[in-house]
This record gives sequence, structure tokens and C-alpha cells, in this order.
Amino acid sequence: MILQASRRLALEAALDADGLDAALITARPNIRYLTGFTGSSGALWLSRVGAPTLITDFRYDEQARDEVSSPTAVHIARGPWMGALSDVVRESVGRCGFEAETVTVADHERLAEILPDVELVPLRDLVETIRRVKDSTEIEAIERAVRVAETALNRTLSGIDWHDRPTERSVAVALELELRRQGSEALPFDAIVASGPRSALPHAMPSDREIEMGDLVLIDFGARVDGYCSDITRTFVVGAPADWQSGIHAHVLEAQELARSAALAGAACRSVDARAREALARHDEDQYFGHSTGHGIGLEVHEGPSLATRSEDSLEVGNVVTVEPGVYLPGKGGVRIEDDVLVAETGPRTLTNLPRELTQL
Ligand code: ZN
Ligand code: ZN
Repeated sequence: MILQASRRLALEAALDADGLDAALITARPNIRYLTGFTGSSGALWLSRVGAPTLITDFRYDEQARDEVSSPTAVHIARGPWMGALSDVVRESVGRCGFEAETVTVADHERLAEILPDVELVPLRDLVETIRRVKDSTEIEAIERAVRVAETALNRTLSGIDWHDRPTERSVAVALELELRRQGSEALPFDAIVASGPRSALPHAMPSDREIEMGDLVLIDFGARVDGYCSDITRTFVVGAPADWQSGIHAHVLEAQELARSAALAGAACRSVDARAREALARHDEDQYFGHSTGHGIGLEVHEGPSLATRSEDSLEVGNVVTVEPGVYLPGKGGVRIEDDVLVAETGPRTLTNLPRELTQL
């Protein structure tokens, strides 16, 4: 596939820059990105000489041959893939990169045994950096993951009678089922449904708490299509909102809109984060916003670039990031609004279409 060849060219340039003769790619999303292989066990051997080779075991024989195309070769190991490495590595290799985030200490010991004359060099974010810039196929997949998630939320909410005091868990289960019904692959993360005072816990897992009249209900959820994730949050209110609830919701929305409009190619990620924080500071609420403003999405639900106070990243055309400021008042409740935004040549393009104003359930 030409697409994947262009990704490998970018990778080869990165290897050159690091003075590496070869690299062993072991992170599943990176293997998928470079070869199309979706199996759960295997590694990709890349070197200056010879074809890139996906090594996997007999369980994935047919799948690998189906998903992986020339020039990448497929090598089927009789046992665990690492055992076949010495059959694949025929050339002499001086420096070989390995992925520090996925190779365990035990794997590293075995690698050093199998490749005794090779200098093993830890790599961080080598493929991840290339993955930050999405091509049109990837953007389309993310857009479809957004549509699936939005349809699933609308259908789920319209099927619930809020007078019945449903539990957070029952709403989350209904939403997860609907996400799968609408076509999501394995969900990128468990849906968060947090109500009343629990909405002030930014990563609350759904509990058996019954959702009551007057509660804020924070729902953070996503779908996965062709491997690509969406990640969306909306905060609702059951019945009419109290003044403090509409107040923090309006402030979060203002911060979120400002941050989204700042997601321009060339912008420092920390400046996007700062826009949200400054907006909340005007209402003296920035101290209730404890997490970062956003993160990249793609084959993983959390990837680069990071929209955080200390981020060294800059935005580039083709990045897809979440923008998700929140205000969490301990013991009372919280609001988060999260959209998925494409950094396009023409400016930020928000991929999410769900209404953002405070909606009564
Ligand atoms: Zn989220
Ligand atoms: Zn997120």
C-alpha cells in the first residue's frame, strides 16, 4: 500500500537522524500504523537492507497475509515471535532501536541474548511522532467514530425516562451497548457517567448512584472505527439548572470555544491550554480545572500532541486533538465539554456536532 510506504519513508528518515541501522517496532498501534496488521502478537523488523518484516506466530498466519502487503514480508514463527528474530535478522546490525515503552526488562534481556553483537538503543515516540499528523483516510475514520458516538448518545438519552431515577451504571451500560450497535469496534475506553456531586470527579467510573432531579450529569464516551477513536464529553442537567450550574457551564463553554479557536497550525500547545485557563481565571474558577486541556486522538485515545501547561509540542496541520476544559466544584458538581478538533490548513475544524449549550434531560 502506497500510504504505508510513505509512513515507512518518514520512519527511515527518523532512523537516519538517530544513526540507527535497524529498529524493532513492538507497540501494537505502531505496527498497525506501519503495516495494517491488527493482530495482538508480533513485531515489525525494519532495517536499512532487506524488506521490512512482520514477525508473528501461526495463530495469525492467514490474518497477517491478508492484512499486510508488499513490500512488507510476513514471517510466521513456530513459537513466540521473538524466537524467530535470529532467522529474520541476517544482516549485520550495529545499532538497533527498540520501543522503550513496550519492551519489558525481560524482553530486553532476551533481545540482548538473541542479538548479542547489536547495540540496543531505546526509542521514545519515534513512530508516535509520525502518527500525530493524520492523512485524509485517518481523518475520515475519526469523523466516522465521532458520528457513531454522537448517534449513540442521542439514541441512548432519548430512550431513558429520567423520572425513573436511573443509576449512572445503567446509563453507561445502555450507552456502551448503543455505541457497539451503531458500529463501534472495541470501545476506546469505558464510558464515564458521573452525576450530582460525583460529576466533580474528573475520571469517576459509573456507580450505582441514582441520578436525581437537579443533578449535573457528565458523560464522557467515544467510539472506534477502523481502529480510530473519538472522545467526547457533554454535561447535562436533570430538570431546570440552578444558577451555579448554568454559571459554571457557561464559563467552561466560553473557555472551550476560546481554546478551540486557538488550535491553529504553528501554535504552541501550551498557548491553547493557556487560553482555556485564562478564560476560567476571569471567573476565578481556574483553580477548579486540574487536568490538561486536551490530547491527540488516533489509533489510541490518548496520544500526542499534548495540550498541557508544560507541553513543548506545537500544533501542525493534520493533528486531531481534543479540547476539554472543565470546572469541578468539590462536593457540588462539575462540568466538562470535550470536542474533537482537526488542525486544518484553513484553521481549526471541530469534528463534533452535538449541541454544546446546557441541555436539560
Ligand atoms: Zn473524554
Ligand atoms: Zn479526552
